[in-house]
Parts: sequence; structure tokens; C-alpha cells
Amino acid sequence: MTTPVTDYQTKTPVWEARADLLVLGSGVAGLTAALRAQELGLRVLVVTKAAVGDGNTRWAQGGVAVVLDGEHDEGDSVDRHVEDTLVAGAGLCEPDAVRSILHAGPRSVSWLRDVGARFDPGATGLLARTREGGHSAFRVIHAGGDATGAEVERTLVAEATGRRLPVLERHIAVDALLTPLGAVGGVTVLDPNGVPGLLRAPAVLLATGGLGQLYQATSNPEIATGDGLALALRAGAQAADLEFVQFHPTVLYTPGARGRCPLVTEAVRGEGAVLVDGAGASVMRGVHPLGDLAPRDVVSAAITRRMTTAPGGIDDHVFLDATGVSSFAERFPTVFAACRAIGVDPARDPIPVTPAAHFACGGVVAGTDGRTGVTGLYAAGEVARTGLHGANRLASNSLLEGLVTGAGTAESVAADLAAGLLADPKQAREPRLKTAPVADRDGLQRAMSRYAAIGRDADGLAVLGSVLDLSTQDRPLRTHRDVEDAALTLVAQALVAAAERRTESRGCHVRADFPVRDDETWQRSQLIRLSPSGQPVLADPVAAMGAA
Ligand SMILES: Cc1cc2nc3c(=O)[nH]c(=O)nc-3n(C[C@H](O)[C@H](O)[C@H](O)COP(=O)(O)OP(=O)(O)OC[C@H]3O[C@@H](n4cnc5c(N)ncnc54)[C@H](O)[C@@H]3O)c2cc1C
Repeated sequence: MTTPVTDYQTKTPVWEARADLLVLGSGVAGLTAALRAQELGLRVLVVTKAAVGDGNTRWAQGGVAVVLDGEHDEGDSVDRHVEDTLVAGAGLCEPDAVRSILHAGPRSVSWLRDVGARFDPGATGLLARTREGGHSAFRVIHAGGDATGAEVERTLVAEATGRRLPVLERHIAVDALLTPLGAVGGVTVLDPNGVPGLLRAPAVLLATGGLGQLYQATSNPEIATGDGLALALRAGAQAADLEFVQFHPTVLYTPGARGRCPLVTEAVRGEGAVLVDGAGASVMRGVHPLGDLAPRDVVSAAITRRMTTAPGGIDDHVFLDATGVSSFAERFPTVFAACRAIGVDPARDPIPVTPAAHFACGGVVAGTDGRTGVTGLYAAGEVARTGLHGANRLASNSLLEGLVTGAGTAESVAADLAAGLLADPKQAREPRLKTAPVADRDGLQRAMSRYAAIGRDADGLAVLGSVLDLSTQDRPLRTHRDVEDAALTLVAQALVAAAERRTESRGCHVRADFPVRDDETWQRSQLIRLSPSGQPVLADPVAAMGAA
């Protein structure tokens, strides 16, 4: 969907457009923010490098974790949801952010239902609820069985279309325009043919999603290349918790799989499926009190351990035995179709599964109001690090985060504009960056998967650092692919720096050489920014942000 932007002028070879708020990204965070900003009377332009519905959002399966009034297990409450989130986050969540987002959740879900989202009903006429890893109650609502993200995205796109929200598709944001005082006043963009343009606005919201494409196998679609994070770092913003990349315990295994792998939602285990190894022995027995529904970091690490200690050498997958799950095809139509495509019938056969890169717990440091440390730059959704996820995201908390913080950011922008806090975009200049270090994507993904997945160590991370340094060449950012590769390169360097420094295992960061959690030294997040020469540097540990 591209509605004409009234003041969008093509001035070959450079074009320019203006708005009050540029929203980069059309997933749950971006579209929620844009719709709320439009309600508040702002002139909004959504920019997305793909088609409007493309992004992580539409692939989300399991659901939205939320405790709704009158629709919850006995004894469940938002405070228990907060508690579960803090436990999963392994000591690095920001409790105030967790409380603020989760308490606002029911209102956001109710808004989404008001604009047309249809969640699955249960037998009682109330919404059906399931359980996922780390949740102590059945509080995950879902749509289309296992197609929650598709329903969320469908609803938001339909609302945007109905309200004629301007969306510029297949335009990739490259870099921020900065004023002499360092405020953001727009972005540079390449159109689908690589023609550069300028988009000016006093406020830019990064809602650019995750970075799963850093790895060979991921649940994330092709767009997840960390662009917004790289743009924010280059604009002077800080990032944190980058070492915590959540690996989903169960994507569908096919030999030699690369790129986006179909997810087998955790809700399948919520409905009784169990993880077993090649010999049929339980993977999770004795590992955690929640068994197969332990938090994701625990399950992914247990699967990885079982694969690397397989009797006949290293295995590259285990199995999910879902033969006891009733009405599998109706309850999980997306997973069922993916299994059938590789000749597996979940009613009869164990499903081959393996962990894969899934979710960035860290990102651009932002408040729950979307504000970053850079005037005019905001971040919401997966690209942002609000402190909700800490060292490990609790399942199904991220769609909710996008809804809540997307709307909240629009309100912050409106308030900042009204208070005259933002820069005049006319003062913003094109960034000097004409070239950027770019590593070969294939090599980068292979090296990241080998040395920076689950079970990292100092030697491997050092090798990875050298691989990135040696294989990187400065390249002009003339194509969409160059922009993405430059982002992957910078984000990989930042992630490796953070992972090398954190000499402990916590949440999604599993170090083979430091297997124990070390609260005394490491119960804190690490801040990263770019040095004047463009290298990711970690803040002094003493000055790093504390996490309660
Ligand atoms: C398979 C899968 C299953 C999941 N299941 C669940 C679940 O059950 N529950 C849950 O809560 N979460 C789930 N998640 C996570 C959740 O879907 C995401 O965290 C969330 O949707 C992210 O939303 P977002 O708006 O931040 O980004 P996205 O939806 O990823 O959107 C990013 C947008 O940014 C655009 N973009 C990126 N870079 C640029 C650029 N340089 N210029 C312009 N545009 C750009 C993209 O085109 C896209 O429009 C799942 C994720 C996956 C992949």
C-alpha cells in the first residue's frame, strides 16, 4: 500500500519529503505509533524498506501475553506477569519499565480489538488462553491458532489503509540527518532503484525490528538486519544488552537450512508436547522445575548441550514429540503446514527441531516513552532496549511491548513538539558517511553462528573479532544490500565486544568458559556507543547502567 505523499517531490537524482514524524518500520511498533500520532494531529510518514506487511510481526505465532480483567487464571494478576518477566530476565530487567509496560498491556490489547483484531475464543465464550515457557499461568491470547502476528499486522495495515496513513514502501533508511548540535532532523533514504533522497522531520522513530539475520539459521525474515540499531549508533545513540540474543528452542529442522526457518511455537509444548533426543529420552527432565516449559534460554541451552553430547558425536537437532496434542492441525495450522511440507505428520512422527536466532533482547537504549539520548530520535519495538526483557525475553511479551511503547512514543513526540524541544529539520545536514565497513554476509553469518551463538568462549569470540576485522572493506552505501550488510557488520562488532567482556553466563548469553552467573560483577547492563572513528566501544564498567 502506498498512498501518495502530498509534498513528496521527485527531484532526480535527489528527492525530498517532509513530515512531523518519520516512522521507520511498519510492524506492530511502527504502525501503532503512526496511527496514534495521526490521531494526535501529527503529519506522519511511515517508511519501510519492504512491503508494508513484511517484518517480524507477521510471523509471530504464539500470541500476546496479557492479563485481562475478568479473563485470567485464578490467582493470576499483572503483578504475577511482572514477576515472571523479572525471573526470565535473569536480573537485568528494569523493574519500573516492566511494570509500566505490562500494566498498560490490557488497555493496548483492548484498543487493538476495538480496531478489529480477532483473537481466538475459548469454550466459555471468553478468549482462549495458552501458556508458554516461563509463564506461571495461562495468559497468552492468540489468533488463528498459531498465526497471531498475521492477525495483528492485518489489523494494523487495514486501519492504516482505512485512515489513508502515508506509507512509503521499499525505501530503505540509511543514516540520520544531524544538526550541528547533534539533534536528529530526518534521514537519508534510498528508493527501490537506489536513488538517494532526504526525508526531513523533527522526530524520527526507529521501529525497524530485530537482527536475526546475523546468524545462518533464524526464525526472522530477511528484513531483520539490525539497520535501525546501526543508524542509531552512527547518530550518537547508545545501545545496551546486545549480547543477549534469544535463540528460540524450536525451529523446524531441515538439513543445511539457511535463512528464515519455520518456527514451531512454544505453545505446542504449552499444549503438552515434550522434547526428546534421538533415543527418545526427555531433554528437559531434571533440568528445571518448569520442565519443557522452562524459560527459553534454559531450554535452548539444554537442547544445545544434548546435541553436543550425543552418543554418536554431535547431533544437529532433537525432536518434539507432539503426538499427544489433540487436534494439532486445527490448533497449530501454520506449524502443521510447515511439518507437512517436509513430510512430517505431527500426529504420528516426532518433529525434528533445533534452536535458532530469534529475538534481540537488547537494542537502542530508550525509555518506555521511546525517547533515546539523542534529541529527535526515538525507538520502539524490537529495536529498542527498554529494560523489559533484561537478559532473556519472556515469551509473547514483545508484541505487547510494540503496542504499548509504539503508542507511548507517539505521545512523547507530540509532547516534545508542543514543548518546542525538537530541532528545526532545516538545520540538519546530510551525514558525512558516504562509505561504511562491510563484511561479506555469508561469511559473517557463518562465523556468528559458529562463535557467537549458544556456548561462546573467549577464543571463539577473538577469532570472530578477527574474521570481522579482516573481511571488512569500506564500501559506498549505494544499494539496499550494502546498507543492510553495513548494519550487520557494525551490529556484529558491537555484539562481539559486549559478549567478550561479559565473563559469565546469564540468560541468553551462555559462555562455555564462564558457565556460572556472577551477580557480584555482572548484575548490570553494558552500554555501547561508537568512538569518534566509528568503532563500537563499551562504556567503563563502573559507569555502566545499573539494573536492579
Ligand atoms: C517466527 C517468529 C515468531 C514470533 N512469535 C512471537 C509471539 O508469539 N509473541 C510475541 O510477542 N512476539 C513474537 N515474536 C517477536 C515479535 O514478532 C517481534 O519482536 C515484533 O513483531 C517486532 O515488531 P517491530 O514492530 O519492532 O518490528 P518488525 O515487525 O520486525 O518490523 C520492522 C519494520 O522495519 C522495517 N525496516 C527495517 N529496517 C529498515 C530500514 N533501514 N529502513 C526502512 N524500514 C526498515 C521493516 O521493513 C519492517 O517494516 C516472534 C518473532 C518471530 C520472527
